[in-house]
Amino acid sequence: LNMPGLSGKQFPDTAPQQSSGVLYHQLRREPLTVVGGKGSYLVTDTGLEILDATCGAAVSCLGHSDERVHEAILDQLKKIPYCYSLYFTNTAAENLSKLLVDSTGGIMSRAYIVSSGTEAVEAAVKMAIQYFTELPVPEPQRVKFISRHSSYHGNTLGSLAVGHHASRRRIYESLLSKNISHIPQCYPYRGMKPNETTEEYVTRLAQELEDEFQRLGPNTVAAFVAETMPGATLGCVPPLPGYLKALKAVCKRHGALFILDEVMSGMGRTGTLHAWEQEDVVPDLQTIAKGLGAGYAPIAGLLINKHVVDTLNQGTGAFVHSQTYQGHPVACAAAYRVQQIIQEDNLLPNVREMGIYLGELLHERLDNHPHVGDIRGRGLFWAMELVQDRETKQSYPPSKAVSWTMHTTGLKPEHAISLMPGSGGADGVNGDHIILAPPYNTTQEEIRLIVDRTVRVIQE
Ligand code: PLP
Repeated sequence: LNMPGLSGKQFPDTAPQQSSGVLYHQLRREPLTVVGGKGSYLVTDTGLEILDATCGAAVSCLGHSDERVHEAILDQLKKIPYCYSLYFTNTAAENLSKLLVDSTGGIMSRAYIVSSGTEAVEAAVKMAIQYFTELPVPEPQRVKFISRHSSYHGNTLGSLAVGHHASRRRIYESLLSKNISHIPQCYPYRGMKPNETTEEYVTRLAQELEDEFQRLGPNTVAAFVAETMPGATLGCVPPLPGYLKALKAVCKRHGALFILDEVMSGMGRTGTLHAWEQEDVVPDLQTIAKGLGAGYAPIAGLLINKHVVDTLNQGTGAFVHSQTYQGHPVACAAAYRVQQIIQEDNLLPNVREMGIYLGELLHERLDNHPHVGDIRGRGLFWAMELVQDRETKQSYPPSKAVSWTMHTTGLKPEHAISLMPGSGGADGVNGDHIILAPPYNTTQEEIRLIVDRTVRVIQE
């Protein structure tokens, strides 16, 4: 918990001194106490109004305190707060699942609703394994997964093993499955060779997946897993045109499933409800979370392609998995209302428009900054990669924990902005990055304020 390099900067003086007993990420330092919030602002117990430029962890996509969602939650609470989904279904879960299935045109024909992104990823992994045991000609030997370097897929032992978050994996390595391997990301800033064209780079990346299939034995691989647009550990790298399509083709050739993790990049964050809509690919399994419930309730989901559902239907007819809080009525009612509001308020065009504006402003203000190596993003999901030297792209040493320092600097009263620190740099894997992910209803004025404050934090 005493992470390297995090000792240099202090949280603002307003941080409480005495522990209440809550276990925070950092044991020796307590975060600011949030007591309220409205729109894009959080309010602390000392009255500091912090511009939440990241929706927390790309979650609060409607901003804070939307009365319409409060009402939906209260209505559901009055009707029925909980019923056990092993015995009963409930209207809220039915409504939400139908909305999600319809949003894919029925391509994904079932939704499995859980409480966190991690659980959705776990469910995807188990569903993939089960699928191969229930094919008309079963393939129980398919137990391996391929994922990517510097990916993040969650924090339980299964999802941690799928991902590649070096510092979070390190001490648990002995418990992480050896049936999961990792290949390079699509990461033009550092991965593309000089003089290589986009097409050549994409072809090379697809070949690397092909090579990994061959190394493992193609008929032992259950699935390839990727974030449609990586967030936490690599920082908002939009997939190059044709990249995901080429990777899916490799999976298809070898009969493996193609799983897209849209926990962070999905549900509107990149400008379309599902990030894969922009990539001309359809996943076999898809995870969703953050923007699904916008933080009004802990909720996530696994969307399952019809052909997988059909296979299970013709097999045991059940998913060998269950959780007490799956399809939770209040969480589902909250998420259903959030999704209705995204449609009613026509927010996706705003995500696209404001995203372009945010990108333009970041480039205008920071393209020539000596320590901003790369600016990249799509929709309202942008990252800046910070480097010691722009020419050589040399990263900061992990001990500097540059992105965390940005975060703590942002929280000083004179800046009052919450920036999302990427965790790649602290792992010593990539350069540090900071992420901006404002709410879908943000305005030009707010975007200008976010960029002004971000630039000041970087300068400091
Ligand atoms: N998958 C991705 C792509 C994520 O970004 C995250 C969290 O940031 C997770 C899974 C884990 O989600 P949760 O923190 O809700 O368990």
